[in-house]
Amino acid sequence: MTSLPAVGLQLWLDDEARVQRLAGPLRSALALPGQGQARLQDYVQPYSLLVLEGEPLDWQAQPLDLDFKAVSGGTLHTRGWLLGQPGSWLLQLFDIGDLLQHRQQSLSAERQRHLTSHLAAELRDCSFDRLGQVAREQLQWLVRHWRASAGRILLQGKQGWQTYASSSDPLSWPDDDELGPLLDRLIPGQMASSLSHAALQALLPQADTYVLPYAQGHIVQAWLVCVGPFEPLSAADALNAWAAYAEPLVSRLAAFELQQQSERLDSLQLQLGAGWWQWRLSEAALQLDPGLAASLGVPAQLTISQWLSRVHPADREAAQLALGELQRDGCALHLSLRLLDHNLAANPRWYRLCGQVRGSGQQRRLQGFMLDVSDIKGQQLQASAAQARLENLIASSPAVIYIQRYVEGALQAEFFSASLQPMLGWEQTGETLQPGQWVHPEDHDLWLARTRTLLREGQARGRYRLRDRHGGYHWVLDEARLLRDDLGLPVEVVGIWLDVTEASEAAERMQVSEERYRVLVEDSPAMICRYTPELNLVFGNQPLADYLECSAAQLAGMNLGQWMSATQREAFVERLSGLTVEQPVSTAEICLALPGREHAWWVWADRGLFDAQGRLLEIQAVGRDNTQVRRTQQQLLQSAKMATLGEMATGLAHEINQPLNVMRMAVVNALKRLENGDVQVDYLQDKLKRIDAQVQRASRVVDHMRVFGRRSEVEQQWFAPWQAVEGALSLLAGGLRSKGVELRVDTPQQQGSVSGHQDQLEQVLINLLVNARDALLAQREQQPWIALRMDADEQRVRLWVEDNGGGIEPRLLERIFEPFFTTKPVGVGTGLGLSVSYGIIDGMGGCLSVDNGAHGARFCIELPVQSTN
Ligand code: ADP
Repeated sequence: MTSLPAVGLQLWLDDEARVQRLAGPLRSALALPGQGQARLQDYVQPYSLLVLEGEPLDWQAQPLDLDFKAVSGGTLHTRGWLLGQPGSWLLQLFDIGDLLQHRQQSLSAERQRHLTSHLAAELRDCSFDRLGQVAREQLQWLVRHWRASAGRILLQGKQGWQTYASSSDPLSWPDDDELGPLLDRLIPGQMASSLSHAALQALLPQADTYVLPYAQGHIVQAWLVCVGPFEPLSAADALNAWAAYAEPLVSRLAAFELQQQSERLDSLQLQLGAGWWQWRLSEAALQLDPGLAASLGVPAQLTISQWLSRVHPADREAAQLALGELQRDGCALHLSLRLLDHNLAANPRWYRLCGQVRGSGQQRRLQGFMLDVSDIKGQQLQASAAQARLENLIASSPAVIYIQRYVEGALQAEFFSASLQPMLGWEQTGETLQPGQWVHPEDHDLWLARTRTLLREGQARGRYRLRDRHGGYHWVLDEARLLRDDLGLPVEVVGIWLDVTEASEAAERMQVSEERYRVLVEDSPAMICRYTPELNLVFGNQPLADYLECSAAQLAGMNLGQWMSATQREAFVERLSGLTVEQPVSTAEICLALPGREHAWWVWADRGLFDAQGRLLEIQAVGRDNTQVRRTQQQLLQSAKMATLGEMATGLAHEINQPLNVMRMAVVNALKRLENGDVQVDYLQDKLKRIDAQVQRASRVVDHMRVFGRRSEVEQQWFAPWQAVEGALSLLAGGLRSKGVELRVDTPQQQGSVSGHQDQLEQVLINLLVNARDALLAQREQQPWIALRMDADEQRVRLWVEDNGGGIEPRLLERIFEPFFTTKPVGVGTGLGLSVSYGIIDGMGGCLSVDNGAHGARFCIELPVQSTN
């Protein structure tokens, strides 16, 4: 027998491959077939039977790979060859299990490398938007590759572990809230050996659970939870594959987060106008955050002096000193300063500058940040300006603000605003500051009641008098409020005193004056009333009520127009419509038909009251009864008229004598003819006609005298002014002519109407004609004449009476209209003619004037004419 090294496994076979003997160390590892002389085929795994086809003779001279059934139930991998021996075959085999395993491992490692690089590349290269989708697909693929049934990736989020991706799986997973705390308890270092975990198993009882950590340093960044069955795969390979997956995912997510943070930071800085700055002392140049530099309009790198030139001059020295201190002593820098805009003209912006020293040696630098605080600073400035204004206002106002502290049921003065001094003269501080001492003795009760009300109701308001330092008293309006603490207990009283002395005194004065006016109105003998533009009375005093024969209370609502004629009312309303804000007053004499009286004449003064738009709201009127005066005036006129008639007596006698003479002549002549018997009918007829004409002439004069002698009508009428001229001439012409006075009458073509009494205008004309006659006779003028003419336009007529009697002495011109002014001898002149005439023309709304013409006096009567429209 050949001695063989005791290695591997040796099997001696007969030609039929029956195992005759076994040797070698591997022998004990074989699972021996049960029955006696087994064949080699009974020792090997079924798939090795392919190698063992035929007989041992067929198998020689080639390597044989045979997998034996091992006693452990596994497989013993062997390789060997068959050697022919005398009478038998020797099968020499070596264990190649290790070799196979190694190959297997390197294959799997290769596959693993491929897998991991594929995973990493996919996750690294996809766009960020697709990252979640790719992560899910890759997870799906990994899970399938490992032949696991499901997988889930958890990442550390703000609320702990959160699922980032999960494979589509039929399992019902526990929530992140349940899974997370368990993951936190796992220790990654201990995971490598066993990926399974009992606690997780409890959460997912349906399947084997495996967890794989991905850590950077000692910190787990991600977990992969897999539900088995898990492909026989080494823990290291699984961890590697997972790391290849997790690394790009975690880093991309972290990068994204970082980018977002930086964007947020940038936008925040931009919005706040904030940014960093740095000054490398070795470089002597200041670096600014680019965003900040852009907003300031300066380069991102600039020298210290350039930088200081942008600091507002008022803050420059402080900035320089603070930077020096920071550089020298390392004191932290906190400074608010103004920076000028790039055009230097606009309002500077306020910045908060903070800084500290960092690094040492070459690396020593000052760094910090700047923050735009213009808004806050602006508000601060506004607030302090407003506060200053308020303080100023309080100090200069006639109001004192005070505080009284509540101490055991009493109020003690604690504070007075500065306005106490100007208002009452008391100093703001001092031991004796008890306002109660200043209260007027008569107002003590008010003061005590105020304190009680304040404590009971929490607020009080009142008016009382306070004594000032000089002993005078001021009326103050007090408004006070009690402030309580959280528990509702009184703490202090805050109040305000408003000096209302002037207002109080004015109100008092007003009351007194109102009372005075009320008494005045009621006791006045004049008629006083208020009425609307429609003439409805709003108020009327007693005298008015007396005239209207009713009580004062009944007056309200009555219409003033009811006592006026239509013409009067029309004129009255027309006059009111002329009232304006600028000319609110108008006076007139009005004529009323009062109950039980013939006519009453009132002198009536109106004053219009207007609203903001200038519309007439109400009229206040004061009236005086002028009836008596009117009557007297009328009587005067009447007497004057009679006097005129008397004066005209000579003229009138002539006026009547003339026709009488003519008639007498006619009668005498007719009688002569009758006596002579020489009478023809024609002759007699002629004489009788002449007598008749003269009778008519005489009766016209007498008629007119009667008319003239009558009293004037109460109301004025419209008439043609030339009629008055003709009336006057009918009474005077004959007399004048008999005195040799030539009448130059220029009858007008057309004329308007004037308002008044024709007889009165006639009287005026008679006065003027008589005066002219007297002047002519007194002058003994050779060719005396009186001229009468009229001219008219649309507004007025003018009647001219001129004579050639030498005129009026210029210095007397102003006086001739005065009553009782006369140059005629006593008993001849009354001096009333012109004065009455003046009154008449004035009453007609016209004007009587005089001047000296070329030959004598020239009188002009100017009257308004009735408008044609
Ligand atoms: P009497 O005629 O009674 O004197 P009047 O008032 O009529 O009163 O006139 C006042 C005065 O005016 C006259 O006395 C006269 O001196 C003067 N007078 C009036 N008319 C004329 C006139 N036509 N020419 C000159 N003087 C005149």
